[in-house]
Amino acid sequence: MKTSIATVSISGNLPEKLEAIAAAGFDGIEIFEQDFIAHDGNPREVGELIRSMGLEITLFQPFRDFEGLPEPLRAKAFDRAERKFDLMQELGTDLVLVCSSCHPEALGGIDRAAADFHELGDRAAKRDLRVGFEALAWGRHVNDHRDAWEIVRRADHNNVGLILDSFHTLARKIDPETIRRIPGDKIFFVQLADAPLIDMDLLYWSRHFRNMPGEGDLPVVDFMKAVMATGYSGPISLEIFNDQFRGGRPKTIAKDGHRSLIALMDDVARDAPSDYPNIAPMPERSNVDGVAFVEFATRGEEAQALEAILHTLGFQRSGTHIAKKLSLWTQGDIRIVINRETSGYASSAYTTHGTTVCDIGISVDAADETASRAKSLGADPFQQPTGPGELDIPAIRGQSGSVLHFIDDKSGLSDVWSVEFANEHTDEADAGLKRIDHLAQTMSYDEMLSWSLFYTTLFQMQKSPMVDVADPDGLVRSQALETADGSFRITLNGAETHRTMAGNFLADSFGASVQHIALSTDDIFASAAAMAKLGFEPLPMSENYYSDLVARFDLNMYMLEALRAGNILYDEDANGSFFQFYSKPYAGGMFFEIVERRGNYKGYGAPNAPFRIAAQKRLMRPKGMPRL
Ligand code: MG
Ligand code: MG
Repeated sequence: MKTSIATVSISGNLPEKLEAIAAAGFDGIEIFEQDFIAHDGNPREVGELIRSMGLEITLFQPFRDFEGLPEPLRAKAFDRAERKFDLMQELGTDLVLVCSSCHPEALGGIDRAAADFHELGDRAAKRDLRVGFEALAWGRHVNDHRDAWEIVRRADHNNVGLILDSFHTLARKIDPETIRRIPGDKIFFVQLADAPLIDMDLLYWSRHFRNMPGEGDLPVVDFMKAVMATGYSGPISLEIFNDQFRGGRPKTIAKDGHRSLIALMDDVARDAPSDYPNIAPMPERSNVDGVAFVEFATRGEEAQALEAILHTLGFQRSGTHIAKKLSLWTQGDIRIVINRETSGYASSAYTTHGTTVCDIGISVDAADETASRAKSLGADPFQQPTGPGELDIPAIRGQSGSVLHFIDDKSGLSDVWSVEFANEHTDEADAGLKRIDHLAQTMSYDEMLSWSLFYTTLFQMQKSPMVDVADPDGLVRSQALETADGSFRITLNGAETHRTMAGNFLADSFGASVQHIALSTDDIFASAAAMAKLGFEPLPMSENYYSDLVARFDLNMYMLEALRAGNILYDEDANGSFFQFYSKPYAGGMFFEIVERRGNYKGYGAPNAPFRIAAQKRLMRPKGMPRL
């Protein structure tokens, strides 16, 4: 199965686009006429440049406002087509995309359009070229692939076929099952795009909000299953118009695009792999059952300060690595590794970001299979030399260059703590913290889709709707990804400006990712009391917050007093209630959160986030400084 992408999907000039597309592993490109016109080079040179990069031109597009025109416009449209044919032959491609007409003088009528396409097919055939017809969702007379197919069928020409575009079909809520009745050899080309569900004008939605399959909400997998059922064997090509992508890094966008297509075709083939001999099989999405460890790269006083916080949170130092400067801190099922190495990956992470989470261990059913799927999806493997007595744990580079290790029971990798660490016996009381509830990762807003695609294509995780969090100095977008049973949860926080708490953290740490770690307890009041004895200082919340809580929720005065005394925040939804409190920020804006979920509460306390952020900023702003 050939993969392709329209040049319009990627930012940059033509050579930059081509380089990114080739590096990401695509087989071909749809050349968008604008990109060709803007380039300084004749068509033959452009064609040669593309082929020299190992890419083929799968399609030339778009040819607009062709069918249904009255004379003399009709004759002019054929003249225009001949000029495009000249250009295509020089570029070296045989297929042109004709999108359904939006011309104000275009006339309707299936037979009239079919006659126009039959004649265009004759002219194309003389040059060994082919014509594909695509129904734009906002076409004047043709806006449905079923009508476009009827025109192609009646045109009855070997050189005329149909072009399908998932956006145009799915945005108009046309049942993709209707594609199954079209003969596969009459489908000349398939374009793919997803989009978030937004109620807006179709043209505006399409031109600004398309995204990669899996990044949006449209049933692209159902669409592609229907296409494949026809016997279609041509390229699958991304055609993505997206404002963020236009400003994004070409290499990242291209890599995400390729990842989305590989994951999509894996989803299509998974139910019946023997029907898809051309799709390379890969292990299925991994089942995650939690965070095995979180590792901080740190040094000197910052390391001591972090260990002091861990102590007040009720963690105990329970192990030391047999060879490296690593100490293991544990509580309940939570493991935090403090890495003070001065060479290797953690050391360079520290040099780049300062104290930072450099590595996340994820507990999966099968570690090797997870790493293998990640590599199939384009992730870079990560390897560091292992010393004597150390386990070789599969790892990849995650987003932003951080490392993810995969740990399972079946390969004995979960024994790493007894194999590689000398245990220190401690019998101090802990604070009742049980598990990592969620990891909150911060990135710039325009990278959020890339991160969610990374996680949702690799692991069995669902996205929840994006929510806006008001920081006093700007908006932060937040999106949760979680496994069905809640055993692994990540919140992605996209910062739009450097003035927000999240944006400031990004700038100060030069793009580090984990900003806070939320730890769960079964009794938040008991945990708060135990931590207070250990010297923990919670983030102080304002009195106004608690006055407002009384107005928002039906809380009795004892509960309210307990919340206030512990600086505990509260939220509830239809399924249950949620308690949370925070540490003060440390090391440039990182912090810990303690949570208790009662009942089946689904969220993360988003309504409380603006008040938490304001409280953190009060502490972080130097005294006497005016507000930024
Ligand atoms: Mg299209
Ligand atoms: Mg949180």
